[in-house]
Amino acid sequence: MFLSVDIGGTNTRIAVSKNGRKIDKKVSFLTPKKYDDGIDLIEEKIEELTNHHIPHSIAVGAASPIDYEKGSLIKVPALPSWSGHLLRKELELRLRTKVYLENDAALAGIAEASKRKKSKIVAYITLSTGIGGARIVDGSVDYHATPFEPGHMIIDPKGRFWPGCGQKGCFESLGSGSAFEITYGVKPENCGDGRIWEEHAETVSVGLVNVITMWTPDVLVIGGSLIKAGEKFTKPLVKFTQKKLEIYKAPKIEFSKLGDDNGLLGGIILLGNYLKI
Ligand SMILES: [Zn+2]
Repeated sequence: MFLSVDIGGTNTRIAVSKNGRKIDKKVSFLTPKKYDDGIDLIEEKIEELTNHHIPHSIAVGAASPIDYEKGSLIKVPALPSWSGHLLRKELELRLRTKVYLENDAALAGIAEASKRKKSKIVAYITLSTGIGGARIVDGSVDYHATPFEPGHMIIDPKGRFWPGCGQKGCFESLGSGSAFEITYGVKPENCGDGRIWEEHAETVSVGLVNVITMWTPDVLVIGGSLIKAGEKFTKPLVKFTQKKLEIYKAPKIEFSKLGDDNGLLGGIILLGNYLKI
């Protein structure tokens, strides 16, 4: 059995898979704000879900850059109390299993790349409350480029201050779902105005052009809740990105079909890769 945990700023989800390719069962619960409560609850839910038969290794993804040496979350903007704790070690001791700790967007990128095996370099960008992403080469995380923080490249030096990173005018401060709400005074899920979406697409395209020029992908895959707006956003997004990129031809630009489960699925695929199934 394969088990994958996704610690998000709002919800934590746990999935199990029998064959390492598809999710058979999952649970979801609110992520406790306090680290100690969170780790207790994750332990409890895993014991419950596996009926106390915990696999020899599990994957854990989190919305934070990862300190791979320490096995900790460097900075979790939505969950400050989780930052810096030795999460990997603590879970390994409590669950008596090996833990692969990874950035959530990196796991999502692994899942997206597994559906595009002909593409050597896959860039994955998630546009949600925040912005994250990963560079995947031959199906694996490109550790030469970690920790991935494409959301915090600066796209407007005079842009707004963003408390999450402490910078001004970063991609996330202008292109994310929370930025959308600040700029237009409406939550993305409640906005049906095509002109607003077109304007937002133009802003986001600046970040995407930079991702393409820095990561040189064969395919750029975009996921996250903002793409649920549909063609009024995705069409101008592709158009502006292709138009702005003059230095070379834009790579293929695709939208995730795996949806919100891509992080959990990526964890399961990662375990399969390590276990060589
Ligand atoms: Zn930032």
